[in-house]
Amino acid sequence: DTSHGPILYVEDVSVSFDGFKALNNLNLYIDEGELRCIIGPNGAGKTTMMDVITGKTKPDEGSIYFGQQINLRELSEHQIARGGIGRKFQKPTVFEALSVYENLELATAGNKKFWFTLTRELTGEQRDRIDEVLHTIGLAQSRFNSAGNLSHGQKQWLEIGMLLMQSPRVLLVDEPVAGMTGEETERTAELLTSLAGKHSVIVVEHDMAFVRSIARKVTVLHQGSVLAEGSMDQVQSDPKVVEVYLGE
Ligand code: ADP
Repeated sequence: DTSHGPILYVEDVSVSFDGFKALNNLNLYIDEGELRCIIGPNGAGKTTMMDVITGKTKPDEGSIYFGQQINLRELSEHQIARGGIGRKFQKPTVFEALSVYENLELATAGNKKFWFTLTRELTGEQRDRIDEVLHTIGLAQSRFNSAGNLSHGQKQWLEIGMLLMQSPRVLLVDEPVAGMTGEETERTAELLTSLAGKHSVIVVEHDMAFVRSIARKVTVLHQGSVLAEGSMDQVQSDPKVVEVYLGE
């Protein structure tokens, strides 16, 4: 059911660095609750695309709307993060000295306390949310473990959990399975698939087998704009896409 319409509109967005167009009339529409994979060769503009959506880089031209009303060009990176667009960078940045539970406590929406003053001041509702997220990310059994002792994959899931504490409408995830074992990769596919529906999830990933395993719709970027869009089978059999990947 796509009757809700897009949650994210990126229209004719261009960004130049010293005259070089990292994004060149990029058009991207993400539906509410969809799981979208973005692929493309190195230098295609994938990182710059995430930077303009999250407000880290402001476009030279074009518009970016969150829903019909909210013009993301007018908001700061911080406002965009607070307003419902979460971003997961490639490297996990959890607080290693704290437990899994404390990391989620720290990430609780509206919790402005510093870690050294964390006390049991969360509401019942907030604690329920932490429990829910612990189950979603598969770390309920590890809640009292120190985050520093988690595997690489578990740290990545914890960081996704920290973003979920803010109940984002859109989640951008950069190369989630880089460095993961096969089993961790499979669990990550299940996790991201389970998040779609409740959240719109945008995944930038190089691992094609992984993309195939999760994506309903794939967007191929090349030279700062969309080269092809469709199912994995559709884009992989597109001669334009074949040419770009063979030329890498
Ligand atoms: P991808 O993530 O798909 O590899 P990027 O968005 O990182 O692509 O980069 C797109 C192009 O823009 C690349 O050619 C890159 O060198 C260039 N670029 C990105 N950021 C900057 C920057 N801050 N200054 C100069 N050039 C940049």
